[in-house]
Amino acid sequence: MGYNSVVCVKQVPDTKKVTGQAMREDGTVNRAALPAIFNPEDLNALEAALRVRDEHGGTVTVITMGLPSACDILRDALERGADRVALITDRRAAASDTLATSYILACAVRQLQPDLVFCGRQAIDGDTAQVGPQLAEKIGYTLMTYMEELQLEGRAARVKRNIGNGTETCRAQLPVLFTVMETANTPRPAAAKKVMKFKKARAAAEVAKAVEGALPAASPEERAAETRRRCDALAAQGLLIQQLNLDDLKADLSWCGGAGSPTRVHRIQSIVLTGGAYREFPPSDAGVGQLIGELIEDHTIG
Ligand SMILES: Cc1cc2nc3c(=O)[nH]c(=O)nc-3n(C[C@H](O)[C@H](O)[C@H](O)COP(=O)(O)OP(=O)(O)OC[C@H]3O[C@@H](n4cnc5c(N)ncnc54)[C@H](O)[C@@H]3O)c2cc1C
Repeated sequence: MGYNSVVCVKQVPDTKKVTGQAMREDGTVNRAALPAIFNPEDLNALEAALRVRDEHGGTVTVITMGLPSACDILRDALERGADRVALITDRRAAASDTLATSYILACAVRQLQPDLVFCGRQAIDGDTAQVGPQLAEKIGYTLMTYMEELQLEGRAARVKRNIGNGTETCRAQLPVLFTVMETANTPRPAAAKKVMKFKKARAAAEVAKAVEGALPAASPEERAAETRRRCDALAAQGLLIQQLNLDDLKADLSWCGGAGSPTRVHRIQSIVLTGGAYREFPPSDAGVGQLIGELIEDHTIG
């Protein structure tokens, strides 16, 4: 019968390379000084979806919300075996926090109505691990976090979850959204033949930028016509990356971008954990109460 899957992937700065000029004086990351990569656990999410398709049939659609440069990871996804990819890009989505990001992704996933949604557990830049759970809630899918192993039988999913100090096996009825751990699998490399094919895949925004560079003296109308011509040629070869904006997704703009983002960053701090900062609380109601009390007291939560 096959399962249709959507994989949510994010392009992130390679935070392993954060040194000197990659950090600004205010402690924020200078994204321009860092290479952009496929969020590592999103590769595990993609691999999990590809294995489902390879074993049971169906399709794998990969979506990302970001700037047109995020097409690099969509090409990578095609080269690793994804069936379809889509870029969600729109100036009105800028300044989206996790709530707005998950809302916009939810609008896209609802249109696709997949059986399964795969997210990485966490992005290495924003690091909140909120988008997967928020997305599951918005689309009304059962949420299974920290997925390490997945078995499907009919409309039932059996999942082994990594819960830190052990594993837990759960069952759920589809549709389900999984957040996938890096320990779940080893992502397959890109296939040479697919690299040769999909290295030429482009979204309309990338084509428009290339046309601008190639025809600096052309009028806007001439550029638009040339962009359309090139996009049609790519589409005929199956190499036009689908590009969606907030109107295509029928998104309510009050939930998108800055307007839909209640998060306010008050302070950015570099925290170095030392051995002395490690504390253990007893695994009892009283211990949990004490832990929460201390976290509220030092404003970590609350
Ligand atoms: C162009 C742009 C502008 C931004 N501007 C702001 C800003 O002004 N203020 C602000 O607070 N934040 C901003 N952000 C950051 C934004 O809040 C986070 O990128 C986003 O909410 C994800 O949060 P996270 O990194 O903690 O992901 P996590 O919740 O840790 O990610 C978990 C998983 O969710 C999925 N996922 C996360 N993000 C995406 C995505 N974009 N597309 C597809 N799947 C995704 C992936 O599977 C990922 O592994 C901006 C991001 C972008 C791309």
